[in-house]
Amino acid sequence: MKIKYLGTAAAEGWPALFCTCRACRLAAEKGGRNVRTRSQAIIDGRLLIDFPADTYWHFIKNSIPLDRISSCLITHSHEDHLYAEEFCNRRTGFAYLDGGSAPVLTVYGTEKPTKLVSAATSGCAPDRVAAVQLERFATADIEGYKVTPMDADHDPNAGSVIYIIEHGGKTLLYAHDTGIFPESDWTYMTERGLRFDFVSLDCTGGLYAQYEHGHMGTDACEKMRAKLIANGLADERTVFCLNHFSHNGGAIYDEISAAMEPGGFLVSYDGMEVEF
Ligand SMILES: [Zn+2]
Ligand SMILES: [Zn+2]
Ligand SMILES: [Zn+2]
Repeated sequence: MKIKYLGTAAAEGWPALFCTCRACRLAAEKGGRNVRTRSQAIIDGRLLIDFPADTYWHFIKNSIPLDRISSCLITHSHEDHLYAEEFCNRRTGFAYLDGGSAPVLTVYGTEKPTKLVSAATSGCAPDRVAAVQLERFATADIEGYKVTPMDADHDPNAGSVIYIIEHGGKTLLYAHDTGIFPESDWTYMTERGLRFDFVSLDCTGGLYAQYEHGHMGTDACEKMRAKLIANGLADERTVFCLNHFSHNGGAIYDEISAAMEPGGFLVSYDGMEVEF
């Protein structure tokens, strides 16, 4: 399995839209991996995760044939993960799909995000965009991937979930956005006897220790790694990657990678690709 991070920032992007804080000024000055767009990832070039406003830039920059993508998982309805109105640009007259053979784009998520997608597209692109609701702890077959949403410790009004994605003998945990994982997740994961090959952990709080609920910082990510290993859900071959960063976490890429990579964590950046 291969994951490509298309966007690695929280809501405001980094530098943040209207911000002049130290972290934003430094990121702008240093450029490169320190500049982050809003959250999105793609698995094996075909299973999209989240759909922020920056999707437009992501597909240009990474030459993604968005007309051919037929499945998109949504973690929750916050705008750095879902810009539902954008799906309307797939409608007739706005998108000339290759000979009419392009697939329907199906968007998956819990009740809140799928309702938003349905509301945004039912009047403009009902034949080209579909929304399918997933249930927590129920595994769905999506393009041959086994996809299981679990509880997230994040805004319940946003229909927040984190995803287990299994394919070809590999298992990925995509944990955005969330704080310390709820107990229900530990029960489910251990009962299933899962072993993760790749774990992507919310690190919105950067190096600040107080981030444990709603989001995590590096201390909470260390705790999650230790607990996953202690429960037999991960081992020394598991790749752990920190992702979803905010200027409120303070440490730009250069700083957080210097602090965390010696301890065995990867630190995401826009365009980063990992095969496992
Ligand atoms: Zn977010
Ligand atoms: Zn800032
Ligand atoms: Zn969020």
